[in-house]
Amino acid sequence: MKKQIKIIVALCFAFSAAISTAQNVKRYDGNIHIDAKTHVLTADFTITFNTLPEGKQMKLFLHESTSDLQLKSGSSVIKHTITNEEFIEKDHAINFDKANIKNLKLNIKYSLNLDSLSNNGFRFNENWIELNLYTAWYPFNTSYGRFPYTVTTKISQEYQLFGSGEVVNRKKTWIIEQQIPSIDISQVFYKGLREEVIGKIKLYHYNINSENVETIKRNTRSHFNLLNSWLGKSNSNDLVLGVSNLKHTTSYARKNFISLSVSSKYSEFYDKILAHELGHLWWNKASVTNWEEWLNESFAEYSAIILQRHLFGEENFEKNISRLKKSASKLASPYQLKKGVKNYQSSVTYKGAYFLYELENKIGRAPMFSLMTAIHKAKIKSTEKLLKLIEEKQGKEAATFLLERLKK
Ligand SMILES: [Zn+2]
Repeated sequence: MKKQIKIIVALCFAFSAAISTAQNVKRYDGNIHIDAKTHVLTADFTITFNTLPEGKQMKLFLHESTSDLQLKSGSSVIKHTITNEEFIEKDHAINFDKANIKNLKLNIKYSLNLDSLSNNGFRFNENWIELNLYTAWYPFNTSYGRFPYTVTTKISQEYQLFGSGEVVNRKKTWIIEQQIPSIDISQVFYKGLREEVIGKIKLYHYNINSENVETIKRNTRSHFNLLNSWLGKSNSNDLVLGVSNLKHTTSYARKNFISLSVSSKYSEFYDKILAHELGHLWWNKASVTNWEEWLNESFAEYSAIILQRHLFGEENFEKNISRLKKSASKLASPYQLKKGVKNYQSSVTYKGAYFLYELENKIGRAPMFSLMTAIHKAKIKSTEKLLKLIEEKQGKEAATFLLERLKK
């Protein structure tokens, strides 16, 4: 599975999307302590299940550098074995017998040195401590489904918190609560930063110069406003945008939360990543466990190109399209593509986006613009339904055109 989640610069994932398989997990409750001086995180998680997964054995992934690991259910300690299986990077698998789980509750305690979190560049930084799925900081198994969570963290007083979820502060304790089932517990503890706003969006940034901050604000406002008027009001009223220049290689979108990683110059390249991630606030309905996720990725990518065309004009559009054409020519079609094959993520993102450009060329810009609104409003989750809708709105020829492109 590891390769499926391997991240290339500028690629991102819409894990917020529906996972069509099991929903074994009911919720996560965590009590965390972060010692900002020694960089040690201690965790005490209770995972409550709806149902236990099939098979005798269960498996959770966690960062390989964790120590003092203890699994308990009821009052009994559960024996576990560790295998060198990576899902993300630098994680390993904790295996245990399902039969040991009582009352559908599993308690997991461990400690983790945050200096070891170098996965994808999420290295410990005392001003910006970013924890997410890519750092494998909490025990997870994405095949057990999405889950709501409440995580309570004690950390020294100078720190504050933002992330995916509602944040409440009580003295030295920070609580983040996400009621919408998610696949990731993503949060950032920060100090010495000012909270800024872009309309209803909260912005936190680190190591970004003031000129770039102004550009990010202006562009975010433009993209967000266009998406709202184009695709319909976003249900993300409390969107939090965290932008850092810390040599991370990963930008990602979660429920009401975007983490954007940029370099010292905020170029149109980074702006497209921002536009793509904003696009995921709308394009996130398809499954992320199979090729149908091209409906999330390609639509987010093509939306980003349209948003940039709106903001920067035709020259930028031509540039984006010629880049897209070049990468698409080397890629397999996302159609029924097996997850995990080489360049899978690029196929579902760029090759699919190129097909959407070709469709736009065929039917025209204005009809494509309204077609995308209709696709979003119909909450399309499968290619089959997409083609039906295109046929309904644009005629059989347009639907056949896209299908033939996909099958090429
Ligand atoms: Zn994406």
